[in-house]
Amino acid sequence: MLKKAIHLLLYLQFSTLILQAQPPTMSSEWEWFNTFEDSLSSRNAEELLENKQEALQAAIDIERPDVESKISKELAFIHISKTNDLEKAMSYLIRSLEIDEKSGNEAGLIFTYIGFYQLFEKIEDYYYGKEFLEKASTILRNYDLPPLRVYLNKELGQTYWLTGELGKSIEQYQNILTYATAERIPKLEAETHTDLAEIYKNENELERALNHYENALKIFRRIESPLLTAECLNAIGNIYLIRSNSERAYENYLAALEVLRQLNGAEAQLATLYNSVAQYYFKEGNAERALANLRLANPLAQKSQKQELIQDTYGLLSKAYKELGDYQKALEYSELFKALEDFLQKEKVDRSILKMQSRHTINQKQSLIDQLELNRIQKDFELEKEKRFKDFLIIMVTLIAIILILIFTLFILQKKNNKKLKVANLRVNAQNDELEDLNATKDKFFSIISHDLKGPLNSLTSFSGLLMNHTSSLSTEEIQMLAKDLDKSLKNLFALLENLLQWSRSQTGNIEFTAEEFDLTEMLNENKRLLDKQAENKNIQIEVKNTKSITVQAHPNSITTVIRNLLSNAIKFTDEGGQIKMGVVNEKHEYVVKIADNGVGMPKDVANKIFRIDTKHSTQGTAKEKGTGLGLILCKEFVEKNGGKIWVKSEEGKGTIFSFSIPK
Ligand code: ADP
Repeated sequence: MLKKAIHLLLYLQFSTLILQAQPPTMSSEWEWFNTFEDSLSSRNAEELLENKQEALQAAIDIERPDVESKISKELAFIHISKTNDLEKAMSYLIRSLEIDEKSGNEAGLIFTYIGFYQLFEKIEDYYYGKEFLEKASTILRNYDLPPLRVYLNKELGQTYWLTGELGKSIEQYQNILTYATAERIPKLEAETHTDLAEIYKNENELERALNHYENALKIFRRIESPLLTAECLNAIGNIYLIRSNSERAYENYLAALEVLRQLNGAEAQLATLYNSVAQYYFKEGNAERALANLRLANPLAQKSQKQELIQDTYGLLSKAYKELGDYQKALEYSELFKALEDFLQKEKVDRSILKMQSRHTINQKQSLIDQLELNRIQKDFELEKEKRFKDFLIIMVTLIAIILILIFTLFILQKKNNKKLKVANLRVNAQNDELEDLNATKDKFFSIISHDLKGPLNSLTSFSGLLMNHTSSLSTEEIQMLAKDLDKSLKNLFALLENLLQWSRSQTGNIEFTAEEFDLTEMLNENKRLLDKQAENKNIQIEVKNTKSITVQAHPNSITTVIRNLLSNAIKFTDEGGQIKMGVVNEKHEYVVKIADNGVGMPKDVANKIFRIDTKHSTQGTAKEKGTGLGLILCKEFVEKNGGKIWVKSEEGKGTIFSFSIPK
């Protein structure tokens, strides 16, 4: 615990990284990279390494691989630029790569790739370095960070040039140029012109090179950068010299000289310029003036400590003395030139031996990088597979959902249709019933007309025939009796016709059952009065129980027809001396009219069919009165048209009670 705390403190002290609460972004990493690169030049390698190694250990101890990866990169950069221990740098970079790939940290990964690039550039393995730059560039495509893009463009431009891919190299610089022009960054613009000019000059495309140099020169002059202005003028002069335009070359050298003279510490540039001027004089065939310039160049070159510049100057001096015939001096400088060349050559060989050694150890480790790359590709593949499977699942689920919805909709539709079908069926059934009813009605109608009307009419014609043909042989009493029978038959016929007419009117819808207020008690009494005579003939007593008037809302004509029919039936089916009682019961929602007799009654099966039109039932009355079986059917129809019900309670030999209701 304590150890961990100490490490944490150490870690906090050595690294500000942990203070970054947020995960690294591409721009925060770029900022870190720049500040770190800057700090490298000003600090002592040993001290730096010590600090970073402790911080690295702390990061490992507190298990912060993100921090470990970053410090590993820093250590790698230190080894690349300071200690030249490329093997160690490689180890750190591989560790960093491992962490970044595992965590998918693209911002970290770009700088690990840049680290590898710097490492391979150091051993001049540009092909391998290029691969890492391209990887970094590919990742950066998804990010908007122009300064880092410019950095990669520049490194790629240089590397492509070194690997002989001229077109690609120029493309990189053109990208920078476009960006610098659009964003108005003149220094970057001018520098890129110079880079392009150098490439074209190397390719011997002098016109293009000159063009770029001139563009650069304009900008350098504008932003007042004398050293770069002078370098540019010198370079332009050199191109004119190659093209044998000595005059223009000289003009440019002169202009450069003017600028440089006003500066301090520009020894290398001045020496280079004097050498250029010497070359001009050689071309002019003026070895003396050339020597004069070279004499000025030599001490400046020495002061600049630039070996190659010094060597160039020695070579030119030897040439000048030779042309002037001073072979002694010419030999001296030629030997100095050779010695320096040997020295530089040896250094070069040493360097390349070192590089070869590094390359050997690095190459051994390359398989590790390849393995990591392979792992990443495999991981990507797995992810892709997983994603594809997920997509497949989503599609399947969506499809199943759609199918389910379809099935459900179909089910609902079918249910709805079934319902409609059922309703239609019911309607058809009802219509069928109605049609059957109508058919039965029609049959009934015709049978009544053909049979029931024929009977009374037949007896009427036989009575009238008797009267007509036997008038003289008949006594007055006999004639009176015949006339009485004739009257009875006529009355019967009249009642029948009345019912028939009423019924047919109701069937054709010609009766409008509009409700009116009337007194029910009064209506019972009225019908009693109407049929009293008939009852008296059979010595039957009719009693109306109600004394108080009862007002109801119904269609009076139809209700009075019902009462008259029921009362006349009661008289018809009651023996002489019988009794009939009529009354109204006041119930909660309706009035119930009751007509009771102590007549012949009827069996149960008869009681069940007397209201039905499809089963004709009729019996003769107690005094042989004839009927048609139409009266009760008419009663049922009229009661129901008034919103009520009709029913019968009867016992054979004891009597019958007919009841019907009128809603309130
Ligand atoms: P009708 O009286 O012309 O035959 P109804 O429809 O009025 O036709 O009566 C049908 C039958 O019901 C009668 O023929 C009779 O058999 C029976 N009926 C009706 N009223 C009574 C009653 N009050 N007592 C006994 N039977 C009756």
